[in-house]
Amino acid sequence: MIKADSDSERTKLEKEIAELRATLNRKEQCLRHLNSTVSAAKAQNQVGHSVHTKLTRDNIARYSRQLILPDFGVEGQLKLKNSSVLIVGLGGLGCPAAQYLAAAGCENLGLIDYDDVERSNLHRQILHSEARCGMSKAESARIALLQLNPNCEIRCHTRLLCSQNAMHILRGYDVVLDCSDNLPTRYLLSDACVMLRKPLVSGSALKMDGQLTVYNYGNGPCYRCIYPVPPPPEAVTNCGDGGVMGAVTGTIGAMQALEAIKVIVGMGDVLAGRLLIFDGSSSLFRNIRIRSKRPNCHMCSDQPLITELIDYEMFCGMHATDKNNPLQLLAAGERLSVEEYREKLQAQPHLLIDVRPSAEFEICQLPKSVNVPLVEILGDGYLNRFTKQLEDKELPIVMLCRRGNDSQIAVQHVRNRFPMHFVRDLIGGLQAWANNVDPSFPIY
Ligand SMILES: [Zn+2]
Repeated sequence: MIKADSDSERTKLEKEIAELRATLNRKEQCLRHLNSTVSAAKAQNQVGHSVHTKLTRDNIARYSRQLILPDFGVEGQLKLKNSSVLIVGLGGLGCPAAQYLAAAGCENLGLIDYDDVERSNLHRQILHSEARCGMSKAESARIALLQLNPNCEIRCHTRLLCSQNAMHILRGYDVVLDCSDNLPTRYLLSDACVMLRKPLVSGSALKMDGQLTVYNYGNGPCYRCIYPVPPPPEAVTNCGDGGVMGAVTGTIGAMQALEAIKVIVGMGDVLAGRLLIFDGSSSLFRNIRIRSKRPNCHMCSDQPLITELIDYEMFCGMHATDKNNPLQLLAAGERLSVEEYREKLQAQPHLLIDVRPSAEFEICQLPKSVNVPLVEILGDGYLNRFTKQLEDKELPIVMLCRRGNDSQIAVQHVRNRFPMHFVRDLIGGLQAWANNVDPSFPIY
């Protein structure tokens, strides 16, 4: 009894601390917003952008190890100092990229991210911290970058990049880094960079693999030259669903910084017209030649068919965020809320099938649930396991998954096979369970 009391007291205190921290983060964000409004107003009053022609004493000490590189030198350092780079996405790729650029002396950085820091980001998004969970990612990254190099001028854009704001935002930068995690943003950035004639350093990482190339540089292709049309939405996996190893995003992100530096300084052989493929499992780097500019590319050819930015979410058939994109395959009456399930079904005999991949089932699961991954359901591989239960038409069958999307596909399939059974799925899946029923249930 005493233990239960102290447990609930602790939960209450933890909740209070989390709320206070969120309030503090919001206030700090307001303050930074005000400060940046003031400095933007000041900057507008100044005439032009000041061009540095000399390195300071601090610059020489700070950048000495790269200054002595013969191909780089003072001239290279001044080019970095006078250039500006926009980093789109302050996640697994954007964090290391921004970190190396700021450290190297790219002193004018723009950071764009609509999202806030969550605990599940921290294993790979290494500019953020436990204490800054709940803060906007762009703001959190700015704090970390200024600690690393206080010479930097960092502008935060805490909103979703879209067709309406992209040209305005991108115009102010010399090089753009695509560190995003979705197709609509990739097409949007590529098109906007073609229109504004800016090089685009594009990175991606998923599971144990990474890719890197520079579009729109020299005579190299744009993203549309390589991928004129987007793949079907169901063929696309993001890190939230497929998983990713933090050191893989770190490898690609650091290389994006390197390519941006090469582009700005004009040194080395920029990775344009080539694609670098990194296989983290076997530690192999490969370089493949990709096609050159497509003569009839709708975007970057001499007679482009597309002359303004379009609706990229519609073009790709998916959202530009990796947030919950709930599917609506079943009617409301064919589904159960997590509360309904707990109140009406959980204590009754029923068959609870969790259709997530087994690696995810191992992380956490509801009591009495059995794991049959969706692929097995669709291949009818589960039938032998439940011969006896399936004979009983009265026995309710409940499908569940992480967010309530795959479970609907499972219900459609099983219902077609067993039309007489009561088959439902849980709306919002385990995430809804954690949010609405059991706050102690892990979210991943
Ligand atoms: Zn093109």
